[in-house]
Amino acid sequence: ERLVGAEADGDDQAVEAALRPKELGEFVGQSKVREQLDLVLKAARQRGGTADHVLLSGAPGLGKTTLSMIIASEMSAPIRITSGPAIQHAGDLAAILSSLQEGEVLFLDEIHRMSRPAEEMLYMAMEDFRVDVIVGKGPGATAIPLELPPFTLVGATTRAGLLPPPLRDRFGFTGHMEFYEPEELERVIHRSARLLDVDTDEEGAAEIAGRSRGTPRIANRLLRRVRDYAQVKADGAINREIAGRALDVYEVDARGLDRLDRSVLGALLKLFGGGPVGLSTLSVAVGEERETVEEVAEPFLVREGLLARTPRGRVATPAAWAHLGLTPPQQGPH
Ligand code: ATP
Repeated sequence: ERLVGAEADGDDQAVEAALRPKELGEFVGQSKVREQLDLVLKAARQRGGTADHVLLSGAPGLGKTTLSMIIASEMSAPIRITSGPAIQHAGDLAAILSSLQEGEVLFLDEIHRMSRPAEEMLYMAMEDFRVDVIVGKGPGATAIPLELPPFTLVGATTRAGLLPPPLRDRFGFTGHMEFYEPEELERVIHRSARLLDVDTDEEGAAEIAGRSRGTPRIANRLLRRVRDYAQVKADGAINREIAGRALDVYEVDARGLDRLDRSVLGALLKLFGGGPVGLSTLSVAVGEERETVEEVAEPFLVREGLLARTPRGRVATPAAWAHLGLTPPQQGPH
């Protein structure tokens, strides 16, 4: 488990419920999605109907689950939470759909990972609020149509492009969640600090925000680790110095890179002169699996403009040299 990983760990799940904003007005950042969603929900409320199906795309930890709960609470509707991988058979989905109440919000996380037959059942359910339940097998099988109450599907996916177009087209509204600006994360941190009853000043919050990789889940997690440090090593209050020292202990640097990120970047710079070097060679040099380097470390390094993937291999940018405090080798005359 990485301290800077964007996926939820067990510890997160326990506290996240307490830190979740409950209404749209409390939800920090994502102003475009918020404004658009506000209109969708208000209009549905005015019509006294059910909101259109909503697709939320974006990286883990940016608030898709939180937003789905807000949609339900703004519509004064109950919410059912499940995920694509949990729905293996069309029958699993039929069971869920047929037990929904009128107006209920069905949150389907990782909707791109649903099985094909379930996906096809969902098309009809979304469009006509109806499913065909297949009874029996082979030539004797019959389809029994089942009416569903109107409901709002909120689908979440890391990339909307992963969804088959027929599914994507059945959503009335698609919101794309962006990574958060440092100022927005500061607001998330101040809000969480208040809820956790931790004294945090502006600079302390800014220090944590700068290391949180644009992701509220990581910001909340780093805040909890800094709180521990402040409690054990100082008087419990968080300021810039305490936040910096705490996160140094956890090896999360000023830009949010952890030990793995720095070891990949360090090898690229020190062993290969900044590249280009192939992924396999780089992985062997850092003693990690190819997949770990490619899927766990690189995306953030690329996003931060520290590393580039080129056809000839991985290349460090000038910012990478500067970040690790190293001098690029002089280019000799050709
Ligand atoms: P995953 O897809 O990995 O489940 P997610 O995108 O659904 O992630 P959430 O579980 O909604 O993310 O959010 C993670 C944590 O971050 C929650 O504790 C939530 O309180 C906090 N959070 C997310 N977005 C915001 C926000 N805009 N304002 C305040 N807190 C937020």
